[in-house]
Amino acid sequence: MNKQLLGAHTSIAGGVYMAIERAEILGFNAIQIFTKNNNQWKAKDLADVDIEIFKMNWKNSGVEFIVTHDSYLINLCAKDPEILEKSRSAFITELERCELLGIPFLNFHPGAHGGRGEEDGIKLIAESINIAHERTKGFNVGSMLETTAGQGTNIGYTFEQLGKIIDLVDGKNRMTVCIDTAHVFAAGYDISVSENYDRMIKEFDEIIGLEKLKCLHINDSKKKLGSRVDRHEHIGDGYIGMDGFSNIMNDRRLASVPKILETPKGKDQKEDLLNLAKLKNLIKN
Ligand code: ZN
Ligand code: MN
Ligand code: MN
Repeated sequence: MNKQLLGAHTSIAGGVYMAIERAEILGFNAIQIFTKNNNQWKAKDLADVDIEIFKMNWKNSGVEFIVTHDSYLINLCAKDPEILEKSRSAFITELERCELLGIPFLNFHPGAHGGRGEEDGIKLIAESINIAHERTKGFNVGSMLETTAGQGTNIGYTFEQLGKIIDLVDGKNRMTVCIDTAHVFAAGYDISVSENYDRMIKEFDEIIGLEKLKCLHINDSKKKLGSRVDRHEHIGDGYIGMDGFSNIMNDRRLASVPKILETPKGKDQKEDLLNLAKLKNLIKN
């Protein structure tokens, strides 16, 4: 199989362009970043010079794919109207920051309905996305829905739910999807068994379309199949196990889809290198 796009969520400590530097040192050709502190609503505007350095360093690097993960505070179907308003405005800011940096995808969890029900939640999420797209008309950056574990009242733990959201969005060409392996496993898709893995990919293709799959979050799961609990584990140390990741790494349908680790790590991200080595060792050609 040809060279795959592999890497990890990478820190922007010291400046957004520092993520590129770290990726180069660690040998990643694909990364995910936050463009701001992910636990805060507010962010300083990106300085022009930071944007320039980011773009120049990216161009001169071996990094071929960058995706942004939005802030964890954003909930596009929040029950509290004030939080919903804040979320919608913060989501638009996230899209604007991606656009300034030339990042083509903003990955986000659809939302947690907080008791209003899944159907209403789905409608509200689509409405939020439509507002954001309207406000960012002509932007190249698209919205990437991430599959969730379905913890609490989180929406997005079935492909049907993601399909319904996309159905309700006007600019469908701006919609893409990211499969998180730990999330789908906790949601009940048993990717550790090759027949079940295969069925899941076929289901994804039927309901959403494989052409919309633009990223994979590669995480093992600390929690059991169907637990609906979102806890990431190092590759091979969780309930998905090496066979599950072998299914993914050797799937030609996913050969060109970037694969990004979101496993536990320290400051120097050395753990990422070990997890990536395990994944690369699984590739059979
Ligand atoms: Zn996520
Ligand atoms: Mn994820
Ligand atoms: Mn997670």
